Amino acid sequence: MYYHPEESFKRSELDKLQTERLRAVVENAKKSPFYGSLLKDFDVSELNTAKDITKLPFTTKDDLRSQYPYGLLTRPLDDFVRLHASSGTTGSPTAILYTQNDIDLWAALMARSMYAAGIRRSDVLQNTSGYGLFTGGLGIHYGSERLGCLTVPAGAGNTRRQIKLIRDFNVTVLHIIPSFALYFAQKVAEEGFDPAEMPWKIALIGAEPHTEETRQRIEELMHIKAYNSYGLTEMNGPGVAFECTEQSGMHVWEDAYIAEIIDPATGEHVPEGEIGELVMTTLTREGMPIIRYRTRDLTRFIPGQCACGREHRRIDRIAGRVDDMFIVKGVNIYPMQIEQVLMSMPEVGQNYVIELIREGFMDQIRVKVEVKEDYFVEDMRVLQKLQKSIASRLCNEVLVTPRVELVMHDSIPKTAGKAIRVVDLRDKEEEG
Ligand code: ADP
Ligand code: ZN
Repeated sequence: MYYHPEESFKRSELDKLQTERLRAVVENAKKSPFYGSLLKDFDVSELNTAKDITKLPFTTKDDLRSQYPYGLLTRPLDDFVRLHASSGTTGSPTAILYTQNDIDLWAALMARSMYAAGIRRSDVLQNTSGYGLFTGGLGIHYGSERLGCLTVPAGAGNTRRQIKLIRDFNVTVLHIIPSFALYFAQKVAEEGFDPAEMPWKIALIGAEPHTEETRQRIEELMHIKAYNSYGLTEMNGPGVAFECTEQSGMHVWEDAYIAEIIDPATGEHVPEGEIGELVMTTLTREGMPIIRYRTRDLTRFIPGQCACGREHRRIDRIAGRVDDMFIVKGVNIYPMQIEQVLMSMPEVGQNYVIELIREGFMDQIRVKVEVKEDYFVEDMRVLQKLQKSIASRLCNEVLVTPRVELVMHDSIPKTAGKAIRVVDLRDKEEEG
């Protein structure tokens, strides 16, 4: 059972709809100062199928920054009712403006995504995202209300109050950032509650890269089903791609977006199933359409059909951001490779941080790893053995032997929003 008729569209119907909508998007986009000049000579008759999208130029984050704040608007400012801005994880933020129609369509996409993850109007949803400019607040909130759920706008932080609300109002669904979920599970236990006894059933986790190992950990610690939720402010926010109850990749809502995966170096499409940079086009946003936006997020299309019957293509969990990659001793490393190893080890606690340091003239990685309380024993030999075992497993994965520093559980500072996984200390003074 689906929430929206277009979810049941077959491939051919989706292709046809995308082609029509793409033409309309280009026509509409030309009304904005930015695309008006960029696409001045582009004739939409060149778009015979949605695949012809490759004839159009990319839009980059720098374009959005240079057009800040109004360069991409297709209509007068009076028609807009809302503004959001990206979190600014990788630099100065960009702003997106929405008309009333855009807000309504986004809420419907969000409601559909939640429904696909098994959420119904009888559910009570607590949103632990920060409200404000971040789309994870109001975006999730409007979707949840649209679906008809009682919605608790708890906002970020204040773990005790979160727990109280969950218990008092029988919250069945949590929207929670994965790094906060790990921390939260631990806090619930510390407050003397058994996570298995909490009323929750479903967690929507997203907003930051995380591994399958992390998802499993969240599910085990919280006794919950965790569904991956992908979105970005430039494409409205959450509700761009979402896991259905099969938990086998995220369906991109292809009636609302065109997704492409390119080689970031050449801009060409990668072969089906290979990892590359996700490029996204809005098909239904009227006020601020964006064409071929380079998300900087790395993923791949999952080949084949999903058992749920939806033919909207699935993307794999985000392997990381192009900008997250760091190079040590000539090797390219992504934080998620490190997380994968750490989160699969039962001794490892819920938090870690990767520090890039300089030893002499060499770059090196130092991984600070929280150890679970039960394992943080006095016996140095036990800890040394654990340290060695983590270092050797990490070396197998990333081909560089990192320095591993074991720290007490809960000792790495926890940020309120997205976790900061990599800290570059190379230009700071370092011990030799
Ligand atoms: P910022 O890029 O400043 O963090 P946003 O708040 O718009 O801006 O967040 C969107 C970004 O968050 C995405 O481009 C992606 O890097 C990350 N993200 C969102 N959802 C997920 C997810 N489910 N898995 C991994 N990364 C995600
Ligand atoms: Zn599915």
